[in-house]
Amino acid sequence: MRILVVEDEKKTASFIRKALQAEGFAVDVCGNGDDALAATTTTTFDALVLDIMLPGRDGLSVLSQLRERKNATPVLLLSARGEVNERVAGLNAGADDYLPKPFIIAELVARVRALVRRGGDNKSIVLRLADLALDTISHEVKRGHAKIELTVREYRLLEFLLRNTGRICGRMSIIEKVWDYDFDPGTNLVDVYVKRLREKIDDGFESKLLHTVRGIGYVLKENE
Ligand code: CA
Repeated sequence: MRILVVEDEKKTASFIRKALQAEGFAVDVCGNGDDALAATTTTTFDALVLDIMLPGRDGLSVLSQLRERKNATPVLLLSARGEVNERVAGLNAGADDYLPKPFIIAELVARVRALVRRGGDNKSIVLRLADLALDTISHEVKRGHAKIELTVREYRLLEFLLRNTGRICGRMSIIEKVWDYDFDPGTNLVDVYVKRLREKIDDGFESKLLHTVRGIGYVLKENE
């Protein structure tokens, strides 16, 4: 398992490298975006830890270049806390996960492990259920031949449900994974978004895919 860490702050890079090596990962480190892109053309990595703030080509540019080249290596983006726009831009550019700085190193390691695991059992970049397809690189969503336009949040919600096809997803786990909140905002946020998503993916189609499990949450599956 080989990880590429892209971070120009030497102390942070070395801290991440040591922690990942202690977990048994082989780790390469690049201090700028161009070196990182060059490294990904010669070496296949199992995941990238990519800082947004880099000298020259920044992390978001590295990420979009990577995806443009149809490289689906899972990417964990690092960014200064509270930069919501960057996070949205990162997810739009094809990041798989996002961690604000300062982070706890154990959390970074856990997230890298999760990305590698996910990459390992799901090499496909297109997630499918019946005639519904979500391309995790281009972010294109289709039902049959019909293209479906989703907002960023609706897309993340659908991707999360698709990665858990057949499993009941509770409201709290949806809030954690799709909104990154670790508290219950105490609103019907999830229900509102599920309703909108359902209108887009199920309305007008005979077989419904998004089902409510009363009092618990939601599940994406074929047939009720
Ligand atoms: Ca940096």
